Amino acid sequence: AQTAPILQVNGIEVIYNHVILVLKGVSLQVPEGGIVALLGGNGAGKTTTLRAISNLLKAERGEVTKGTIELRGERIENRSPADLVARGVVQVMEGRHCFAHLTIEENLLTGSYTRRDKAEIAANLEKVYTYFPRLKTRRNSQAAYTSGGEQQMCAIGRALMTNPSLVLLDEPSMGLAPQIVDEVFHIVKDLNAREKVTFLLAEQNTNMALKYADYGYIMESGRIVMDGQAQELAGNADVKEFYLGMG
Ligand code: ATP
Repeated sequence: AQTAPILQVNGIEVIYNHVILVLKGVSLQVPEGGIVALLGGNGAGKTTTLRAISNLLKAERGEVTKGTIELRGERIENRSPADLVARGVVQVMEGRHCFAHLTIEENLLTGSYTRRDKAEIAANLEKVYTYFPRLKTRRNSQAAYTSGGEQQMCAIGRALMTNPSLVLLDEPSMGLAPQIVDEVFHIVKDLNAREKVTFLLAEQNTNMALKYADYGYIMESGRIVMDGQAQELAGNADVKEFYLGMG
């Protein structure tokens, strides 16, 4: 049984540099407790959609020019990224973006810098380590000297340090070996099941994303062209022909 959506995006348009229309009316829903995949090739508009939701477009000279974005029924288009984090929405950016010179643990702790309760932060850190035992092993290593998979885990772990209810995960599989991608997705699934964290993840790796998500949207040239239950999409002939094997 699915409850009311935690996130609802209604017909958003996004323009970069005042002229380049990149999202041409994107609508999607993420149910509370779900794992939703946003699929499509390079340049389809997945990252832009996530950035629109977390209000990170400004730095890219982009803006939402039409449509609405609602978090639990409340409009959020004008909320600052920090305010959104306080409301439980956090984005894990593509390319991981760990601080190379900080240790894994220092990186994780940057995720809780706005919080004051030390005991709570320590408990949160331990929780992250239970989901990512590899990070615990590597806690004192500089991020620069850890593997791509460990850096991706570190980026997700840091997001978890904000106590999110909705994580926007941009291309978690990028540059990782299939076995490591499986490991990362497995942990995402676990966090979803046990901590009730909701995920909206952008992926070019359709196979892998549909294996772990419950629902998927497929984007092309700034539009959603298809959506459905993950299992249905994975079995759909057009999806197989055009999207499986990508990524
Ligand atoms: P990728 O997997 O490569 O990140 P994507 O589906 O996430 O692809 P976006 O990054 O959202 O796609 O890009 C969508 C379109 O917007 C592309 O045509 C891209 O060139 C364009 N675009 C992205 N960022 C900017 C920007 N800052 N200024 C202008 N155009 C941009």
